[in-house]
Amino acid sequence: MIEELFQGNKRFQETFFIENISQYRELIEGEKPKVLWIGCSDARIQTGHITDAPPGTLYIHRNMGNIAPNHDWNFASVLEYAIVHLNVEDIVVCGHSDCDAIRALDQNLQDAYIPLWLNEAREAKNRVDSWIAPPRTKEQMEERWKQIEMENVRLQIEHLIAYPFVKKATDEEKIKIYGIYYDLRTGILSRIV
Ligand SMILES: [Zn+2]
Repeated sequence: MIEELFQGNKRFQETFFIENISQYRELIEGEKPKVLWIGCSDARIQTGHITDAPPGTLYIHRNMGNIAPNHDWNFASVLEYAIVHLNVEDIVVCGHSDCDAIRALDQNLQDAYIPLWLNEAREAKNRVDSWIAPPRTKEQMEERWKQIEMENVRLQIEHLIAYPFVKKATDEEKIKIYGIYYDLRTGILSRIV
């Protein structure tokens, strides 16, 4: 597979990169993204691809389940850098349909780390299960997962606001936070928060 990636890079470099060389030269001067994008690691969703955003536009953090944890130095440092140093204007939390991380909330996983990580999203499942009747059909189960995927976006925005420097930046209207949802079946991004 790695050979295919190098071949793909050769195609990219010889065509797209060369054809847009002035834009790529500008990127060397430094990054000035306007948006911090928090998305799922899911291989089926390539952020720049689904938004048609050119390089340099999005500062991206991806993890299982598009989670914004409150006790994780990796995430916290990305968030701090984006807000304090890059001065992004928008933060996006992007959930998606058919999310394996959300479906894993229903499983009793024996893995060492995954269940611990998913605890950061478990509240979304608990909330939805307290609102809806237990699903009886496949369609109702699919709808339940969709509700949890969307509630997880709202939950992660709550986690974001719990960071004092995020709360301050939103109160001062220096940044706006958006919750959005990508549907793998239609290719459409929708705003939910
Ligand atoms: Zn996912």
